[in-house]
Amino acid sequence: MMDFTLTEDQAQLREEIRKVCQDFSDPYWRRVDAEGEYPEAFVRKLTELGWLAALIPEEYGGIGLGITEASIILEEINRWGGNATACHAQMYTMGTVLRHGSEEQKRRYLPGVACGEVRLQAFGVTEPDSGTETTRIRTTAVRKGDRYVVNGQKIFISRVLQSDLMLLLARTTPYDELEDKTRGLSAFLVDLREAGEALEVKPLDMMINHHTNALFFSDLEVPAENLIGEEGMGFRYIIDGWNAERILIAAEAVGDGRWFVDRAARYAGEREVFGRPIGANQGIQFPIVQAYAHIEAADLVRWQAASKFDRGERCGAEANMAKLLASEASWEAANACMTTHGGYGLSVDYDVERKFRETRLLTIAPVSNNLVLAYLGQHVLGMPRSY
Ligand SMILES: Cc1cc2nc3c(=O)[nH]c(=O)nc-3n(C[C@H](O)[C@H](O)[C@H](O)COP(=O)(O)OP(=O)(O)OC[C@H]3O[C@@H](n4cnc5c(N)ncnc54)[C@H](O)[C@@H]3O)c2cc1C
Repeated sequence: MMDFTLTEDQAQLREEIRKVCQDFSDPYWRRVDAEGEYPEAFVRKLTELGWLAALIPEEYGGIGLGITEASIILEEINRWGGNATACHAQMYTMGTVLRHGSEEQKRRYLPGVACGEVRLQAFGVTEPDSGTETTRIRTTAVRKGDRYVVNGQKIFISRVLQSDLMLLLARTTPYDELEDKTRGLSAFLVDLREAGEALEVKPLDMMINHHTNALFFSDLEVPAENLIGEEGMGFRYIIDGWNAERILIAAEAVGDGRWFVDRAARYAGEREVFGRPIGANQGIQFPIVQAYAHIEAADLVRWQAASKFDRGERCGAEANMAKLLASEASWEAANACMTTHGGYGLSVDYDVERKFRETRLLTIAPVSNNLVLAYLGQHVLGMPRSY
């Protein structure tokens, strides 16, 4: 029997995040979106309260909570109109260091990340020529004495200008020399404060306020001691973080979905046309209800995935399904909310169009739902692989 009722502590956590969000209401998010600004004040507040250190164990200065609690934090941010993608990576990028770094690296980096003195929220994997096919990345890290020299380029790398450190995936063995193509990539911690001209950061103009960049490396030197774990095992280490990330993204989508349903239901009851509230029309009411039911169903899979994750059980199927179902349900809710608002849905002042743009990302990144389907088809249902 699975019981997903929140514990008292979890309910209190939800309440505390809600209170923080009340100080950063619609006009705040509308303004940072319009100005393309990083929501620094909001992120700083969450950091000060310790919530972005939720997943860091207490011995490294964090608060040592589980993925369930971390997912509650991110869900609440989106639930009250914010955008958790601005800060979620500060919570979980450090997971690669925690799981695969040396004790020395953990002691050196994690306490700073936990208190927010150090921002580790940039994660450099995607490249223009490899896209989803990570094992094809071409950025190289060549060992020269006590350093690695990095050359190549990355695309869509978020929050580089708002980070002190970046977790970088680069090739340490040429693709053609590999028998196992999942080897040959290595994970490094790059100190962005020391990169200088060896790293060019070019901000990209995107549909959402996401602080995403193209990166160009020319002979960037990274001390060999910044290699995480074993050389050649980086892809494996990145994969190890995928379930956690998918559960957290699912929670953000659930938060978005609830925001859309709330706003849609409220507006449907208030707006009168043809002498009655538009919500009395089933053409308006039913799509909102459908989306609501889908969000609640996706949420159950999210709790199931999170609870398995926190018990240390295998949860690849549930984590992937939660991400798929929640991001689709939220997108469905976004469309119902947009339709319900008619022309006002497109008005910036109602926030629907902003959240509409923001939630669309969750079906595409950090992993596209097609790849989630491919995972489920291949690994859960045993069908042939497409990649
Ligand atoms: C706002 C934003 C922020 C991002 N931030 C980061 C970041 O911080 N760090 C980072 O490393 N990356 C980041 N990304 C990159 C993101 O993870 C990639 O966009 C994503 O992995 C897809 O790569 P691509 O865009 O090259 O798509 P492609 O690989 O070109 O794929 C295009 C489409 O084809 C589909 N497709 C490809 N192969 C198959 C297949 N075998 N079967 C079915 N469908 C398939 C894909 O699912 C997708 O829908 C970000 C992207 C965005 C948009």
